[in-house]
Amino acid sequence: MTRNIIMLGTGSALPVSNYHACYIVRTNSFTLLSDAGGGNGILSNLNTAGIAPTEITHLILSHTHTDHIFGAVWLIRVLINSYFNGSKVNRLRVYANQQTANALIEICRLTFLESYFSEIDTVIDLHIINPPETDKIEDCKIRFFDVGSENVCQMGFRLSFADGTTFVSLGDEALTDRNLYEASGADYLICGAFCRYADRDTFKPYEKHHFTVKDVAMNAAKAKVKNLILYHSEDKTADKTNKYHAEAAEFYNGNAIIPKDLDIISF
Ligand SMILES: [Zn+2]
Repeated sequence: MTRNIIMLGTGSALPVSNYHACYIVRTNSFTLLSDAGGGNGILSNLNTAGIAPTEITHLILSHTHTDHIFGAVWLIRVLINSYFNGSKVNRLRVYANQQTANALIEICRLTFLESYFSEIDTVIDLHIINPPETDKIEDCKIRFFDVGSENVCQMGFRLSFADGTTFVSLGDEALTDRNLYEASGADYLICGAFCRYADRDTFKPYEKHHFTVKDVAMNAAKAKVKNLILYHSEDKTADKTNKYHAEAAEFYNGNAIIPKDLDIISF
């Protein structure tokens, strides 16, 4: 079984050299996009990764913020375009909470040609999630849960694969006391870490309801997470990968992964 995480973006809300935090989980049977970033950079990064928008089978939008949903507007626009051009388009199954779904549809309505907007249900199959809820994606179980964000209604998810491997996503939220239970024992956890604790005075993560590599690493140790993927971080630190690794290693014995845009993590 081939199973990859393809990091389409690793940046936080205002990156200058990266795309916003979003990624694909790809197996032999599905291609799941988790968040879509904030613009049409999603299309160029998909193109560089060699993934056609029509290959994406599932989209999960964690919350309604700019840096997570505007890329989905572009994706839907491309799918409708492909449909009009006569390509076979399987309906993209979209999972979002009510607030996020409302925002997505409203932005599409306000910005698409009427003839395009009228085909939106042809290309997407929208599922409103009110966590906690479960579903199945092929032979993989998925559980949606509230990540306990302090500033926005945000959902995470846990994928449980048939071979027992678990993958947990907290959207752009950090691993905190409010979601530790959901991440407990995960083989892979992906979550936000805005900057190093050492750089907190420069980047001021706590003012933005974000946390540091140290905070997340300490909680990952508590939650016995085996592989910790950190993203949604500042992109101004030179040699970020090594510096983040060094801070994580002080508090966490597992495998910390600090990906760059377009990195592929096989699991
Ligand atoms: Zn964000």
